[in-house]
Amino acid sequence: MINIKNLSKVFRTEEVQTAALNAIALQINEGDFISVMGPSGCGKSTLLNIIGLLDSGTEGSYQLLEQEIIGMKENDKARLRKQHIGFIFQNFNLIDELSVYDNIELPLIYNNVASAERKKRVETIAERLSLGHRLKHYPQQLSGGQQQRVAVARALITNPKIILADEPTGNLDSKNGNEVMELLTDLHANGATILMVTHSDYDASFSQKTIYMKDGAILNEKQNARNVDVLVDAKEN
Ligand code: ADP
Ligand code: MG
Repeated sequence: MINIKNLSKVFRTEEVQTAALNAIALQINEGDFISVMGPSGCGKSTLLNIIGLLDSGTEGSYQLLEQEIIGMKENDKARLRKQHIGFIFQNFNLIDELSVYDNIELPLIYNNVASAERKKRVETIAERLSLGHRLKHYPQQLSGGQQQRVAVARALITNPKIILADEPTGNLDSKNGNEVMELLTDLHANGATILMVTHSDYDASFSQKTIYMKDGAILNEKQNARNVDVLVDAKEN
């Protein structure tokens, strides 16, 4: 699904140049659940933003769904992003002036989905994420955990090929954080492909594989003991 080779990213301002990514190689297959860890400033968000087509690499190759992204026109990238990428952010990034319903519906409007179909899909996903009774509320009226569930609903509403989550539990207490991790684990068990940045070893343990970054490079990776099979076994026993 994703094949990255020798990807580098340099941020240039008039005074400084920052090498944020340095010859990254990464492959993500359909159904993977991968976490990314590493110290602040090591390039995790930059990597996620490039994969999510919010930013561009300066060098190297990035293939998403068998299309080369580096050098692609911004319009084409935007179209791919709207169709295939679901983003979840640490600070939720909801629009405070819009109701929960309108926040979740937004990506469908961007994708020109007809209004009756939009209504059906918003209501279905809201039920699935236990937000059915919150659709007329505004983000500020919800708990942090509920706000992140709205953000997850908004990320999922277009049935994206890949879900990118940048410290999704970073602003949540442990109870709400666990709820979000259970939600992501559940999505993964149902076939979702997830790439998640986290500072939490516990959150990373829900993923199949953890990638460790330092200074813009991937240092090493580790297979995690807890994966979908283990969870299923635990439930059956
Ligand atoms: P992380 O998410 O791991 O904390 P980032 O990807 O946000 O790290 O940042 C990697 C490096 O790139 C840091 O040195 C950061 O200061 C720099 N950086 C990130 N975004 C920008 C930007 N828009 N302009 C200039 N430098 C940036
Ligand atoms: Mg970051």
